[in-house]
Amino acid sequence: MSKIARRKFIQLSAVAAAGCFVQPGREARAADMPHLTEDDPMAKAMKYTHDFSTVDPATRTNPAEEQHCANCALVQGNDGEEWRPCQIFPGKLVNADGWCSVWAPKA
Ligand code: SF4
Repeated sequence: MSKIARRKFIQLSAVAAAGCFVQPGREARAADMPHLTEDDPMAKAMKYTHDFSTVDPATRTNPAEEQHCANCALVQGNDGEEWRPCQIFPGKLVNADGWCSVWAPKA
């Protein structure tokens, strides 16, 4: 292996090793994010609630029958988690049983 190839190999190995340490940190940050509160001004503006069953379907603009954060196209994180990141509320976690007026069906 030439000196240049060995140097490139070492650089790529270092980057790959660093990636192994970055991923757990990213997950830990998501878990450490605060829960969105219903009295948050942005949550109020979007009519967010922790419990989708409290929303009168007649008041929703989207006619889809079953609407909650866990089946919304904008939720992030993993299925089965009680609190998950949402694209609409960056830096906060929403309840899987929550709902807001931006709800959109998954494709
Ligand atoms: Fe829940 Fe979707 Fe509203 Fe986010 S955009 S709070 S996931 S309903």
